[in-house]
Amino acid sequence: MLTFPVYLDHNATTPCDPRALEAMMPFFTENFGNAASRHHAFGWQAAEGVAYAREQVAALIGADPSEIIFTSGATESDNLAIKGVFERYASKGNHIITANTEHKAVLDTCKHLERRGGEITWLEAGPDGRVNPEALEAAIRPSTILIAIMYANNETGTIQPVREIAEIARRHGVLFFSDAVQAVGKIPVNTALDGIDLMAFTAHKMYGPKGVGALYVRRKNPRVSLSAQIDGGGHEKGMRSGTLNVPGIVGFGKACALRMEEMEADASRLSKLRDRLENGLLQLEETYVNGSREHRLPHVSNLAFRYVEGNGLLLGFNKKIAVSTGSACASASPEPSYVLKALGLGDELAHSSLRFSLGKDTSEEQVDFTIRQVSETVNALRAASPLWQWFKEGQDMDAATWAHPSAKVLTESSKRRIE
Ligand SMILES: *Cc1c(COP(=O)(O)O)cnc(C)c1O
Repeated sequence: MLTFPVYLDHNATTPCDPRALEAMMPFFTENFGNAASRHHAFGWQAAEGVAYAREQVAALIGADPSEIIFTSGATESDNLAIKGVFERYASKGNHIITANTEHKAVLDTCKHLERRGGEITWLEAGPDGRVNPEALEAAIRPSTILIAIMYANNETGTIQPVREIAEIARRHGVLFFSDAVQAVGKIPVNTALDGIDLMAFTAHKMYGPKGVGALYVRRKNPRVSLSAQIDGGGHEKGMRSGTLNVPGIVGFGKACALRMEEMEADASRLSKLRDRLENGLLQLEETYVNGSREHRLPHVSNLAFRYVEGNGLLLGFNKKIAVSTGSACASASPEPSYVLKALGLGDELAHSSLRFSLGKDTSEEQVDFTIRQVSETVNALRAASPLWQWFKEGQDMDAATWAHPSAKVLTESSKRRIE
C-alpha cells in the first residue's frame, strides 16, 4: 500500500532509524548524566555512551576515535574546519581553494573569510559538476593553506575526484578538507585511503537524529590542529566546547554502525531503483540528467524537464510526491539553483529541474508511482504551454536559455536561434 506523500528528498534529511532512536532513549532519562562529570556514575555512564559512539563513528570512516570531534551538525563542522584552519595556520598563509558548487555552509564560510583578509580561489566545476584536478593544482600558491572540495554534491549527487585532489594536496603540503555529508554512510568513505585531512558529516543525512554531526581531524601524517570556534569548558580536546549532546551522539553512533552493515546492500538496491526511475522519466522528450551520470551517488537523480516549470510540477503532483527543486537550503528564495547554474544551465532550465533522492526504505512501488505521476504532470503542463507548442512547431523561442549542456543534438531551429 502506498501512503502519501512519497518521500524522495533524502538528501535534505532522512528519517531517524528506529534502532538508532531505541539506542538513544535511555540517555534522555535514566542515563541523563553529563559526559564531563568525572565524579560519579551518572557522568561515567554518559561518557561511556559517548566513547562507544565515537568508536562506531570512527569505524565507519576508517579513522581513529581520537580523530572525531562531535559538533551540532555539518554546518558547524564546515565552519570549524575552514575557520579553524584559517586562524591556526595564519602564519603559513591565507589562501583557500574551493569550488562554486559547494554547499552554502562552505561557500558562505569562505566568503566570510574573504572579508577578513582571506584570499579565496573559486574553482568552476565543469558541465558534469566535477572540478578539474589540473586547474586545482595550478591554483596552488605558496600561501595556500587549505583545499575545500566536497565529496559528493547534495543537489546532483556528483562525486568529486577526491583521491586525485588528496594526492595533489599532499604533494604540495596543503591540507585537504572535504564536506562528505552526502557520501558517508552511502558509499565507502575512508579518510586513510582517500587521503582526507579534515572531513565534515552529519547524523540526520544517514538515518540518525538531527542536531549532531562530526568533524574528522587527522592526528598524524600530518597532525592537523585547529583554532576553536566555540570556547568554554574545553570539551572535545578544546576544539569544541559545550556539554555534549549525549543522546544525539549515541544515536549517531548507532546510525553509523547500521550504515556500516547495511550500506553496501542498500546502495546496490537503490542504484537499480534510481536507474528505473531515471530511465522511466527519460522516456519523456527533452528531459536531461544534470551532473555526471558516471561519477554519481547511487540514490540520486537530478533531472531537467525542458519547457516545464519546477514549481508548476510540484503543484501538479498535488502533494503526492515530496522532492526538491534546487537545494533545500535555498528553497525559501525563488533563486535558481546556483549549483545547476554552475554546470551551465540557464535560469529557465535550472527552474525546470527536480532532485529525486531515494532512501533505504524507498520501494519499487513508490518509484513506479513517481514515474507515472511525474510523466502525467509534465505532459499536462506541456500540453498547456505555448512555449512547448512553438517548440514542437520548430520555432524555438529561447534556445540559449533552454539548452542543456549535455544535449548533444540541437534542433535545426535552435541552432539558428543561437547563431
Ligand atoms: C545538509 C548538508 C550540510 C548541512 O548539514 P547540517 O547537519 O544540516 O548542518 C552541509 N553540507 C552538505 C553537502 C549537506 O548536504
